[in-house]
Amino acid sequence: MRICFLGTGSGLPSQNLHHSAIYLELQQKKILFDCGEGTSKQFLTNGLPFNDVDYIVISHFHSDHVSGLYQFLQMLYISKRCKPLTVFLPEQVTFFSQTLNLFYLFKEKLSYDICFAGIEELTTTVPEVIAILSDHLNGYAEIVKEGGYPNELRSYSFVITSHDKTVIYSSDISSVDHLLPYTKKADSIILDGSHTDATELNKIIENSNCKIYLTHNPTLRNLSLQNDLPDRIINAEENSWF
Ligand SMILES: [Zn+2]
Ligand SMILES: [Zn+2]
Repeated sequence: MRICFLGTGSGLPSQNLHHSAIYLELQQKKILFDCGEGTSKQFLTNGLPFNDVDYIVISHFHSDHVSGLYQFLQMLYISKRCKPLTVFLPEQVTFFSQTLNLFYLFKEKLSYDICFAGIEELTTTVPEVIAILSDHLNGYAEIVKEGGYPNELRSYSFVITSHDKTVIYSSDISSVDHLLPYTKKADSIILDGSHTDATELNKIIENSNCKIYLTHNPTLRNLSLQNDLPDRIINAEENSWF
């Protein structure tokens, strides 16, 4: 298993960072986790085979995790991709898939078959990956209820296991409790360093022995922690692999 950080920025735009995108090669499978703004450019910058991507997995519908998807699909179309693509979405699959028409990405025009599926189908298709529901969006419950919005507050973290290692990608999280059953066995953890506070970060540190790559521009909120962090806690560097 190999992983490249394409976008490690947070929802706050930055001059130096792109929005969330993690590229993963898992044996023959190529998977893109999240597709924030700038992902297409980052594929080009890193010389990655964007037409080989088999699956795109969107952890949740905050724009920094999904806003690059239409552009990415257009790049595949313009480059005459033939290989089918499956996009796993956290919620509202039918509604989201219909928005492609808004961007003139009509299925009839695309050079490749595209399938949208719910993340609950992810493990059936890609048995190496399990999705775990997190509490990241729970803070919207009141406004969603009062406004009668169809949003389901679904945001997921992922545990990816291959024959050689186990990697956790938290995506955005508030608490880390849903990850703790997996952290001890993990070989690497890609952790949201922006929304998590010192208490939550410490829980992960105490319950793991591996490298922890912090994403989402963690220095914004955890700067005061830097001196106390063990060496295995590192900032995820864009365009780097592990
Ligand atoms: Zn985010
Ligand atoms: Zn988010």
